[in-house]
Amino acid sequence: MYKVDLRFTNACPVLCRHCAYDSRPAGKTMENREMESVIENLSPATTIIMLTGGEPFYRKGSLMHALEHLAELRKDGFFHTDPKIHIQTSGYWIKNEKQAYDEVKNLANIGVNKIMVTSDDIYHRERGIEYGNLLGNNKPISDIAVRLYDEGWRGFDVYGVPVDNKKHPFGRAKSLSRKAIRKSSSCMPHGMFADESGDKYVTIDPYGRVHLCLWEIPPSIGSALETPVDDLIASALNDPVMVTLVTEGLGETAKKLGVFDKKLTEKYEENPCSMCESTFSNANFGPGRNK
Ligand code: SF4
Repeated sequence: MYKVDLRFTNACPVLCRHCAYDSRPAGKTMENREMESVIENLSPATTIIMLTGGEPFYRKGSLMHALEHLAELRKDGFFHTDPKIHIQTSGYWIKNEKQAYDEVKNLANIGVNKIMVTSDDIYHRERGIEYGNLLGNNKPISDIAVRLYDEGWRGFDVYGVPVDNKKHPFGRAKSLSRKAIRKSSSCMPHGMFADESGDKYVTIDPYGRVHLCLWEIPPSIGSALETPVDDLIASALNDPVMVTLVTEGLGETAKKLGVFDKKLTEKYEENPCSMCESTFSNANFGPGRNK
């Protein structure tokens, strides 16, 4: 069973400084025919498809195309699992209660199960998005959440990303102060793919490349434009480097790649994400997102 982040666009008007992808207004968005190929190559055992970016509402035509194509495939019985469809957004498009309610209701009616609004206040405010005008009693987001809840729809979530949270040191977030950079993190592929029980998690970037890591740092395992995701995962789990990453973690992977630095032994365990990019670059694998 797979959860997929379908990151179909790198375009975004908000330019949060903590963005790990460096999304920007002119960022790449999948063409419609690319989107169709990628969706048709998803695993039929997918349980959650998260449409995200970049900012998915900034490329609304592409978002709607993805939703329509997913609806067609579901109708044809492509998925075994009746996957849930989620959208993650900055909420920059929310102007007032009526407009936001109509928008969310429309998406719920075409099969969206959940809309997650990330309220990263300080960055949003820099772009003129005043969450003070949206959140709180009698404010649009709170009001539509209550209305939708009363109507029985449980899929509208607003969650904050506190500005003092540590950020992963990738993309635009690299320019944050050292204090703002995350010191430790557990490695997602390591553990999730090692353990046979439970859902696995993959990310597909706007070029259709499939990654075992949300941050897209280890090399991509191949393109979902051409190859079914199930096949890509099966072949990645036969690759000695990927097998070492998912079963033994980054330190052992660095040894396998011949770039292990003994002086940094503890950091491989304590701070794997910070070590990861240099490990793969030093081994001439290159960061996955740039391949
Ligand atoms: S250590 Fe590397 S592979 Fe693991 S989560 Fe961090 S960036 Fe991804």
